[in-house]
Amino acid sequence: MSANHTLNMELSPAEREMIELLKEALGLDSDEAVMKLLMRQAIQRIAITCPTCGHYARLSEEDRAICRSCLSVITLSEGIWEAGQVPLVPPGSSG
Ligand SMILES: [Zn+2]
Repeated sequence: MSANHTLNMELSPAEREMIELLKEALGLDSDEAVMKLLMRQAIQRIAITCPTCGHYARLSEEDRAICRSCLSVITLSEGIWEAGQVPLVPPGSSG
């Protein structure tokens, strides 16, 4: 039995090389660690952590996300993500 952590997926030689370089550059010891790190970086671009339940909420707009788990609508308010209820009536022009 090998102690190496390898992902059960097909990689082309070029992809294999990418993983090896990333492993080296990032100081990681397994393919799995590389993939997990890349996933964490990628998810931050498309989702945020729901402040209510801790699940990932995918961004629907730049400053708005909806959590599928608890159905919170999370909006970016002064740099802070805040969870709220789904508005029954879309807010009109304010101010
Ligand atoms: Zn949630």
